Amino acid sequence: MSARPTYGFVGLGKMGGPMAANLARSGADIVVFDSAGSAVRALAEARVASSVAEVAAASETVFFSLPDGPVVLEVLGEVVAAADRVTRTVIDLSTVGIDAARAAYARASDGGIVYVDAPVSGGRNGAVAGTITVMWAGPGELLESHGVALEAMSKNVFHVGTQAGQGQALKLLNNFLSATATAATAEALLFGLTQGLELKTMLDVVNVSTGRSHASADKYVNRVLTGTFDSGFATSLMAKDVRLFAEAAAAAGSPNELGATVRALWDAMDAHAPAGDHTEVFTFLRDHGGH
Ligand code: NAD
Repeated sequence: MSARPTYGFVGLGKMGGPMAANLARSGADIVVFDSAGSAVRALAEARVASSVAEVAAASETVFFSLPDGPVVLEVLGEVVAAADRVTRTVIDLSTVGIDAARAAYARASDGGIVYVDAPVSGGRNGAVAGTITVMWAGPGELLESHGVALEAMSKNVFHVGTQAGQGQALKLLNNFLSATATAATAEALLFGLTQGLELKTMLDVVNVSTGRSHASADKYVNRVLTGTFDSGFATSLMAKDVRLFAEAAAAAGSPNELGATVRALWDAMDAHAPAGDHTEVFTFLRDHGGH
């Protein structure tokens, strides 16, 4: 038997692919699965499984990086039901929402598995560079015992709580801020263009002034001004996050004025072009906003 723990990784998309590659490069023994064969082929460093059940039979701890709550619950069900399963811990790096994280925790517990709610932030570039943030809501002992693996993927691991759902709450409030700044920056710049101001000039000024945000400093400079719209975060995923935030804020009874407005905007863009990059909110508002 290998002295090194074997990690499983399910979901090798824009985030999971580079995170799993960093984990493999750190020397960890890993076995991976993605339902899209093309995603798996891009990862040369790992053993490739042909099903979730095969991952569960090979690894005590399995990471998920999957699109949303329904997919996580489906894949978790496959882990729980796997014959010859050795998996005891699932670390879910996906954004699924509070209710889905709680449901996943309960489903996992029934099967004798600890489910850790550990969503991430920092985009595909952060996943490649290993600089993403991990918001760990789960037992501290597990965070410690998986510290080496987590550090291979992230330089910013935060123990934000012990209950499944708390990681999601922090992730959703972060992405609501990100979605709001990204949309507001589009509106501000589109207004400036009507006044004869240059896009680059506006960004140069805003980015050393009080209107600066990660959206203005990174997304608008590197993805919008360049015309590349290649942040690697799809509109459908951003709309999902804002929807989950607005629903969670409504359920919690916390203020949700901006949340409702920002949600309506991202829902409209999601209905228009879900697979597009979320930085295309600039062209969406240019072409479909205003009068
Ligand atoms: P993605 O769509 O690129 O990747 C998801 C992967 O899951 C795909 O490769 C898909 O084939 C695979 N998959 C779907 N169903 C599956 C199943 N049943 N079994 C096995 N594999 C399956 O998405 P992404 O951008 O990598 O995002 C993954 C998660 O991380 C999402 O929850 C997202 O909200 C979150 N996230 C994304 C970013 C980003 O910038 N892209 C940043 C932070 C968090």
